[in-house]
Amino acid sequence: MARYTGPHCRLCRREGLKLYLKGDRCYTGKCAIDRRSYAPGQHGQGRKKVSEYGIQLRAKQKARRIYGVLEKPFRTYFERAERQGGVAGENLLRLLERRLDNVVYRLGLGASRVEARQLVLHGHFTVNGKKVNIPSFQVRVGEEIAVSDKSKNSPRIKELIERSADRTPPAWLEYDAQEAKGRVVALPSRDQIDVPVEEHLIVELYSR
Ligand code: SF4
Repeated sequence: MARYTGPHCRLCRREGLKLYLKGDRCYTGKCAIDRRSYAPGQHGQGRKKVSEYGIQLRAKQKARRIYGVLEKPFRTYFERAERQGGVAGENLLRLLERRLDNVVYRLGLGASRVEARQLVLHGHFTVNGKKVNIPSFQVRVGEEIAVSDKSKNSPRIKELIERSADRTPPAWLEYDAQEAKGRVVALPSRDQIDVPVEEHLIVELYSR
């Protein structure tokens, strides 16, 4: 399963905003965006005139990086979103939101999507009682996501469960911190998806 293995802070600096890819560190003074808020590389501080294509490309890259999806699967998500009818951009975000790693993050059971992905890969979660270790697994309305019984003894999982009690998940998810389990109660609406992405730019890019 392919994934980005380079430095995560570089991605934030490229997009010019915090993407919160490193969990707790993102909220400290060590955040690279706070220290060097210009793009990485030799020409990072140069003045740039950005074309229409450049703006669309940045919107797409930002969405990909927030959700940790590589180009090819991202394109597949878009094609699927287009086939669904309705607003393709919103469908795209809805599909990305319902990835299992994102749902785990939204429930507060991962400090970042990167950590949530790692925990899913290591088999710490079940969907409707069955172990699922595929981060891209699409969770459907009505399905229950839970920490597996065995994993509840892991020190990191214990810590995350404790911390998750203080977090309020978005309205399309229900969460019981005592049991460390949540449920998708509805499809997320656009106003419930708090990612700083202008999805219509992604649609324009792929429609070129
Ligand atoms: Fe991005 Fe977090 Fe790194 Fe800051 S610390 S640049 S928010 S990944």
